[in-house]
Amino acid sequence: MLSDAQLSELLARAAEDEEPDSHRRKALSRASRAAFFWPVEASWLAEQDRALTELASVGPWLAHIIGAWLLDPSLEVPEPPALRRGFLTMSEVRETIAGHPEWMRELRADLQMHTTWSDGTAPLRDVVAEADTLWDYEFIAVTDHSKGLKIARGMDEGVLAEQGEDIARVNRELDASDSRLRVLRSIEMNISPEGVQDMEPEALARLDLVLAAFHSKLRPTEDQTERYLRALRNPTFHILAHPRGRVVNRRVGLSANWPRVFEVAAEEGKALEIDAHPSRQDLDSELQLARDAGVWISIGTDAHTLRELRNIEFGVALAIRARFPMDRILNYRPLQFIFEWTGRGQPA
Ligand SMILES: [Zn+2]
Repeated sequence: MLSDAQLSELLARAAEDEEPDSHRRKALSRASRAAFFWPVEASWLAEQDRALTELASVGPWLAHIIGAWLLDPSLEVPEPPALRRGFLTMSEVRETIAGHPEWMRELRADLQMHTTWSDGTAPLRDVVAEADTLWDYEFIAVTDHSKGLKIARGMDEGVLAEQGEDIARVNRELDASDSRLRVLRSIEMNISPEGVQDMEPEALARLDLVLAAFHSKLRPTEDQTERYLRALRNPTFHILAHPRGRVVNRRVGLSANWPRVFEVAAEEGKALEIDAHPSRQDLDSELQLARDAGVWISIGTDAHTLRELRNIEFGVALAIRARFPMDRILNYRPLQFIFEWTGRGQPA
């Protein structure tokens, strides 16, 4: 039976056969992307004799095409190109979690999200309220961008301090409202390929949790092990966010000697992130090596909109599929443990 991932690939190929800018091409491309978010397998829907038009971005014309594919046993599905290989669909995510419901029950945190303090679309209070409503989180980390990332309206040290005061007020409001949620002062700061951070260490020391990420030179094909080792030895941060930098249909991500990278991450006490954004899913296939090296993992939605806060399930499913032990994932540890793990001891 064809999976939604395979249908997505078939739709993408069919789009390429249509005239540029044609309605058909646009409809096929749109459905190809939407297939990754269909809540069920299209093949299951067809088996139930339900209409494929129930699926997002599928009208009668596409329902006819997809229906014919599902009925064709001789159809060969091409292997996706590297740019879109190895991404879970929503349907796969839901099925994975259904087999391990305790993973959503015991989840305590989302450790990467953005607000209007940088390039997020929603203000801090709305992001916090949405996270508080969605899951029974104990803590979340607000990780707006740092000044080196101009395109994302990154914060300088002064703005970071102002944001810290705002977060303190939000935490007092949460306390007063009986919510168990606590907001951590954090940042997704930029590090250069040389491993140098773009923020003053004193400003970072005032945060609860510091994420660092590469945002430049993400396309080289040569081995980048040395870049990772330099970064991991930088003592100013705790978590390396979206480590490979892959983005579906845009970048395949960096390559490295992963066992060596994970060995050094373990030595340095750094966590690597599973970026749960559906177009990133970074790390994914490297997770089993990370598990064997005893590395800490952090899961973050990297949400830039309220809606994207729901994507935490993608990260959880990746961890389950890698058979990652829950107790090596920061999102499953109590808040007090996080303060001990970072060496901060107490909230900022
Ligand atoms: Zn980033």
